[in-house]
Amino acid sequence: MEKQELPHVALFVTTGMGHWIPVLEFAKSLNSFENHNFTCTLIAPTYAPLSKNEESFLESLPNGIDFIALPPATSDYLHGLVNVKGETRVVLNVRSSLSAFRDVVRELMGTKTLVALVVDLFGTDAFDVAMEFNIPPYIFFPPNAMNLSLFLHMQELDKKVSGQYKDLTTPIEIPGCFPIYGKDLADPFQDRKNDSYKWLLHTASKYKLAEGIIVNTFQDLEPVAIKTLQELGNPQIYPIGPLTQNGLNYSSENCECVRWLNEQPLGSVLYVSFGSGGALTHKQMNELAMGLELSNQRFLWVIKCPSNVPSGSYFGLSNQDPKAFLPNGFLDRVKGRGLLVSNWAPQVPILNHGSIGGFLTHCGWNSTLESMVNGIPLIVWPLYAEQRLNAVMLTQELKVALRPKVGENGLVKADVIANTVKNLIVGEEGKQVRNRMRDIKVAAERVLRPDGSSRKSLANLVSLWSSKMSM
Ligand code: UDP
Repeated sequence: MEKQELPHVALFVTTGMGHWIPVLEFAKSLNSFENHNFTCTLIAPTYAPLSKNEESFLESLPNGIDFIALPPATSDYLHGLVNVKGETRVVLNVRSSLSAFRDVVRELMGTKTLVALVVDLFGTDAFDVAMEFNIPPYIFFPPNAMNLSLFLHMQELDKKVSGQYKDLTTPIEIPGCFPIYGKDLADPFQDRKNDSYKWLLHTASKYKLAEGIIVNTFQDLEPVAIKTLQELGNPQIYPIGPLTQNGLNYSSENCECVRWLNEQPLGSVLYVSFGSGGALTHKQMNELAMGLELSNQRFLWVIKCPSNVPSGSYFGLSNQDPKAFLPNGFLDRVKGRGLLVSNWAPQVPILNHGSIGGFLTHCGWNSTLESMVNGIPLIVWPLYAEQRLNAVMLTQELKVALRPKVGENGLVKADVIANTVKNLIVGEEGKQVRNRMRDIKVAAERVLRPDGSSRKSLANLVSLWSSKMSM
C-alpha cells in the first residue's frame, strides 16, 4: 500500500468518556487547522465491550479521524491486589495493552507518516513504543495547569514529605500554584501506601521524557501556573484550551432535554450531573433529592444508581433503574419543575441552553470548561480524582462557584443543599459568581480567536509537527 503523504498523529487514550471526549476534540482541532490536513488515529485500551455511550461517541467521528479500540486486556493483573483504585486499574490496563498497541503503531507506520505519538495523562508507559519507532512523544493533559504542575513536581514532593499528605498541618507549595492542603490533593495522594500512589508516581516520572505537553487550559484562567510551567523550558507546554465539544447536532426534535428546557424561563434551571463516573451513596442521593425539592427551583438531574464508591459508575453503569432509589413520591412532587434523566444526558447542548442558570457539578475538568464557555456559575460537589483541587480553585481562586457545607457525618444535608441552590439561582451571591463566570466566558472566546493565546499555542504545535514532513 502506498504511504499517505499527510501528517498523521497517533493518540493513545485511556479509559473513560472524560478522557476520550477532550482527546477527540484535540484531534478535531488538528484535523481542521487551516490547510495542514492532519489525520489522526485514536487508540484506546478497553476493559469490556463498548457501552452505548461509547458506541455513539464512535459514530460521531468526522472524516480523517479513526478510532481503534484495543481488545479488552485480561484483568489477570488485578489478581492478588486489594483495595484497587481507579488509577491503578487504568495504568495496569495500559501496561497490559502495550503489545496490542505496538502492533497498531507498526501497522500505521506502514501506511502513514507519523509526526507525533500523543498519550493522555495516565498513558506514559506507551512512550516505550514511541521510542522503539522513533516517533516524538507528547502528552495531552485533559485537566488544568495546576494539576500538571503537581504531576511534574510529584517526585520532589515524594522525597520532601514524609508521612501522609493529608496529615500535614500546613499547605503544600507547588511552583505557580496557590497553597494546597493535603486533603484537597487528588485521590492517589490520599493514601501513599495504596498502589494507586505508586502507579501515579511511576506514570508522572516519565513526564519529563515528553517533547511537549498539551494542556486544556488558557492564559486568563491560570496565568501564573502556565507561566511557571513554561519557564521550566522542558518539556514545552502548550495551553490550547478551552477545548470543549460542540453540541450542534441536538435540537428540540431529537432531544427531550432541549424540548423541556425550551419551556422553562431563562436562567431558571439548575443542571445537576456528576460526570461520566460519579456516584452518590443512597443516603446522600436522598438528601440531594429532598434538597432539590425543598429549594423550590427548577432542575434537570442526570441520575445514576447509588454506590458507596464515589467513582462508582466509571467502569460501567448498573443495569438497574436509578429512579427506583429516589424517596417515595418524589417524582410526583417535583413534576413539572424537575426533569430526571437516567445515566447520561447531552450535557453540552444543555449547558448551552438559555434556561440553564447554574450547574451542580462534580468538578470534572471537561464539565468545568463546558460551563465556563457558556458562562454558567457552579455549585461544586467534588467526588474523586483531582476534583477537590478543582473545587478549591473554582471557589477560592476564581470565585465562580458556591460550595455546600459537608456535615460532620460526611453528608451534605437537604436544607444546606436547598439554601445553596436558591442562593445560586435567585440569590445575591449567585449574582456575583454569575458575573465573574461571564468574564471568564468572554476570556475563553478571546483566547480561541486567531490572535488569541490558545490558538497561537496550537499554531506553534501544528507548524512544528508539519515541519517534520519535510525532514
Ligand atoms: N457527559 C455528558 N453527559 C453526561 C455526563 C457526562 O455529555 O451525562 C460528558 C461531559 O459533557 C464531559 C464528560 O462527559 O464532556 C465528562 O468529563 P468530566 O471531565 O467532566 O468528568 P469525568 O466524567 O471524567 O469524571
